[in-house]
Amino acid sequence: MTANANATRVLVLNSGSSSLKYQLLDMADGARLAVGLVERIGEDTSRLAHTPLATGGTKREITERIADHTAALNAVAAELAADGLGLDSPELAAIGHRVVHGGSEFTEPTLVTDEVLAHIERLVPVAPLHNPANITGIRTAQALRPDLPQVAVFDTAFHTTMPEHAARYAIDTATADAHMVRRYGFHGTSHAYVSRETAKLLGKDPSEVNVIVLHLGNGASASAVRGGRCVDTSMGLTPLEGLVMGTRSGDIDPAVIFHLSRNAGMSTDEIDSLLNKKSGLIGLCGDNDMREIRRRIDEGDERAKLAFDVYVHRLKKYIGAYYAVLGKVDAVAFTAGVGENAAPVREAAVAGLEELGLAVDAELNAQRGDAARLISPEYARVAVAVVPTDEELEIATQAYALVSA
Ligand code: ADP
Repeated sequence: MTANANATRVLVLNSGSSSLKYQLLDMADGARLAVGLVERIGEDTSRLAHTPLATGGTKREITERIADHTAALNAVAAELAADGLGLDSPELAAIGHRVVHGGSEFTEPTLVTDEVLAHIERLVPVAPLHNPANITGIRTAQALRPDLPQVAVFDTAFHTTMPEHAARYAIDTATADAHMVRRYGFHGTSHAYVSRETAKLLGKDPSEVNVIVLHLGNGASASAVRGGRCVDTSMGLTPLEGLVMGTRSGDIDPAVIFHLSRNAGMSTDEIDSLLNKKSGLIGLCGDNDMREIRRRIDEGDERAKLAFDVYVHRLKKYIGAYYAVLGKVDAVAFTAGVGENAAPVREAAVAGLEELGLAVDAELNAQRGDAARLISPEYARVAVAVVPTDEELEIATQAYALVSA
């Protein structure tokens, strides 16, 4: 599909409601040519931070009002052009877009057409915060380079292999179907990448291994991956379900919502905001950064300790649940900001699971590094690994594979 055989670059765009993250990658060798971020779009204090890795340049920052996503992408394009990496380059093969919700239908990276955009739009009711921003990002990129393939890579796609009994909630089927209520799961690009990299670390083909992936960032999710295919995941209709997160509650009794509505007089929007923005670690102790929580624990702070313990208890429950779902587990992989950096979380989550074949070697766990690595002792039946995620590389790889096929 690519007209120019020298077109090996992919621009990856991750559009949020007020932010635009981007990376320019060269798929000939996987090199990152430029990375950056525009934040606070639409505010007076917008900021663009751009690092031209290809030229070895240092980070440049612009702080001035950037009115909307079109202005943001134009500003990014100008920064890239200043480094000789302009979006008009014939070397650009595609723009890959992270799209949060692809429903049940989008199971693969997909070339954006008007019909595809309309479909992503129809999913807005189940992803009201994310899909509109993603659509804006795609339209903006289309306007800038109408001739270039735009590829949508969905957070939900990897999870579409879940069996129906894992995806279906036990509520009235007609109501569920009429309103698209089912488990979709998110962070799929990360779960796909990390489960594959874990197999690689074990020297095996993904089809040969069963992996529990724990993506612990500010948002957090677990998945059970059997032979390279997702069979269960902790996030649901929205990213609210499952693990304790930075600001989200994860699993709670749904009746908490009725209770707060009836007895605390809270509106639906207030409860939504409570559970998504004021819960999880921040709700429990006032901080959502694991570094700060650890610092407070070291100073003897009881609230921080309880927040940590609630976080780890939930994590351990999911390891146990997915162990049972998979029957046999070859590896547990920790990834994302907390998973890659917080050794105490990894240690505590696995503590006491020796009978399941799980253990962490204290020395290996304490070591830092950017590469995927094992942290379990030789004798452990199940490998425990730290596997850095790279969603941008995965999006670029998938987009490039599609357009160069
Ligand atoms: P997201 O992409 O979901 O915004 P990240 O995967 O970047 O999040 O993870 C961010 C979180 O990672 C931070 O909120 C913090 O809790 C945690 N984190 C980052 N660095 C460290 C560290 N060195 N030690 C412990 N936790 C860390």
